[in-house]
Amino acid sequence: MMNIETAKIEALRTLLAEPRNIVIVSHTNPDGDAIGSSLAMAEVMRAHGHKVTTVVPNRFPYYLEWIPRSKDIVIYRFDKEHRTEKALGEADIIICADMSALSRLEDLSAAIAANTHAKRVLVDHHLNPEEGFDVMFSSPESSSTAFLVYTLLVALYGKESITDVVATQLYVGMMTDTGNFAFSNLTPELFRAAADLSATGIDIPTIYNNVYNSYTEGRARLFGYTISRKMKTLLKGTVAYMSLTEEEMRRFWFQQGDSEGFVNYPLTVKKMRMSAMFSEQQGFIRVSLRSRGEVDVNEFARRYFNGGGHRNAAGGKSFVSMDETIQHYIASVEEYHAEGLV
Ligand code: 5GP
Ligand code: MN
Repeated sequence: MMNIETAKIEALRTLLAEPRNIVIVSHTNPDGDAIGSSLAMAEVMRAHGHKVTTVVPNRFPYYLEWIPRSKDIVIYRFDKEHRTEKALGEADIIICADMSALSRLEDLSAAIAANTHAKRVLVDHHLNPEEGFDVMFSSPESSSTAFLVYTLLVALYGKESITDVVATQLYVGMMTDTGNFAFSNLTPELFRAAADLSATGIDIPTIYNNVYNSYTEGRARLFGYTISRKMKTLLKGTVAYMSLTEEEMRRFWFQQGDSEGFVNYPLTVKKMRMSAMFSEQQGFIRVSLRSRGEVDVNEFARRYFNGGGHRNAAGGKSFVSMDETIQHYIASVEEYHAEGLV
């Protein structure tokens, strides 16, 4: 079992002892873990008599749209019917999934902050979670939030609560956050949990294909272009960075999610220790960072890009031009290197 304090599980059990209005929110640019974890909690909680609304700040990638019940998710940016405000007005409980700070909700954070009556629950695996939650499940040692959610749901409601729908939702979270069970924190407990999911009869090759072999042609060509033309290296080929402007993305018929995962590819080079991807958004540049082993990009993101995440996968933002962002990255890498950190 993952080490979760019994007192916290009991506190959550008490909160859920009678039918509640629950809002589950997750981070901006939602990924497979954010969507899978939110939907799995919603599914099981609805089955136990609760009214649940799931909300994310902006759209999730098209290759996650096949996930069962994903159409139920309210996209706050396009929420013309004000379903979010309505649900928040009635909410007894707000669950923040796969995020460690309200600021990760961006446009949605003010609406959440405005609700002062609901109990707040954190279910997350990022480092350095912020204060202010009534019940806090923070497991940075967990490879995904979905694995933590699995553990919580089984503790609360037993393995019977994990239907094939829930198993599919959780498997997507585990698979995507571990790079198909290849990254760090792969514990025997995780594989036991995956075995339990598999035992519900879910179709694992189909889940894999739905996520990883469902891209557009534009995405494949953009990927080739990014690696071939835009990947630059520093420190004798041990640190990489890439960038994409809005114009470049448009050239390849960019759709939300198309550049996810590109940042991992420089690390397929044996001697590479750290990789960065800068992608232009409206009003800022999104920074994605990945590293190998002891190189700590959570610390790097916090120090130089006002962000955070995990030791080997982190992100942040830059509010200066692409050229200035890249210059700042190069200078930051040099400083980090001088301190022996990369
Ligand atoms: P990605 O590169 O996939 O967007 O993000 C990698 C990791 O860094 C994720 O765990 C994500 O939550 C975290 N992350 C990405 N962007 C930010 C950010 O702006 N602020 C913080 N604190 N974490 C971020
Ligand atoms: Mn996650």
